[in-house]
Amino acid sequence: MKSLSTLLTLAALLTASARAQMSQPMVHEEATKISDHVWAIMGFPNIAIVVGSRATLVVDTGMGPKNGATAARVAAKLAPNNSKLFLTTTHFHPEHAAGEPGFPPGTILIRNAVQQQDMEQHGQEMIDMFSSRSAQNKELLAGVVLRLPDVTFNQEATVDLGGVTARLLWFGEAHTKGDELTFVEPDRTLISGDVVQNKTIPNIVGGGTPTTWLAVLDKVDALNATHILPDHSVPGDGSLVAAERNLISAIRTRALALKGQGMSADDAGKQISAELKTQHPDWPNTNAAGFVKSVYAEPQ
Ligand SMILES: [Zn+2]
Ligand SMILES: [Zn+2]
Repeated sequence: MKSLSTLLTLAALLTASARAQMSQPMVHEEATKISDHVWAIMGFPNIAIVVGSRATLVVDTGMGPKNGATAARVAAKLAPNNSKLFLTTTHFHPEHAAGEPGFPPGTILIRNAVQQQDMEQHGQEMIDMFSSRSAQNKELLAGVVLRLPDVTFNQEATVDLGGVTARLLWFGEAHTKGDELTFVEPDRTLISGDVVQNKTIPNIVGGGTPTTWLAVLDKVDALNATHILPDHSVPGDGSLVAAERNLISAIRTRALALKGQGMSADDAGKQISAELKTQHPDWPNTNAAGFVKSVYAEPQ
């Protein structure tokens, strides 16, 4: 009994420290190997680095230029002989995109056109909102000026890095309107942004609807990924796609049933969050209030 309770305490501590790391905004200097050509700096968010024989691609920047510079430095250390650096972003939220000014001159910034539109319409607004959340964010985001990308694409762009190819994909609206997915071949590694997470409740922030998100997941499923690196949770295998689909579909079905019974969106959010806590006691957070609101708001 004693050793079991010690183990449980240890597990709780590890979870707490993993969670602290997942939410702190400073990008650190070590990268973890995900697959043959893909590395990740784990943090808030996880930043992916795809290394080819000629060029390197970084996916996401961290919060503000200081973090962007750290990510670029880690990428340069992984591949000191690669002179060409590409940068793309999973979506326009500041911890993913507002570190761009910290990247070296000559970095080729590429993102899909819908995401760029999100950025132009709401990028500054999100920077202001994140800045107001803490003194640290305010300092990290001070004076950030977002530049135009060097390349935009509609649905797909292929970046050949030398011996490894990154397919940058826009499959439709999910967490935001412009969510970008990066599929690395031959590794079959998917850098999934917020679209596929691990043990994490979905959230729509200026994006699509639960139904458009499910349609995106159908396309993601067809990629048949082997490794998945989400941006705010731990990496996993291809089964995360079906798990995400089942989770969104289950919350949606339950919320529509409660809506049909005349329950308010707020009450349904509380009830469904509590039910999820019972079903998934090991998840760090099961607050589904926001997502339930998105289901209620969806035109039927
Ligand atoms: Zn986001
Ligand atoms: Zn994020």
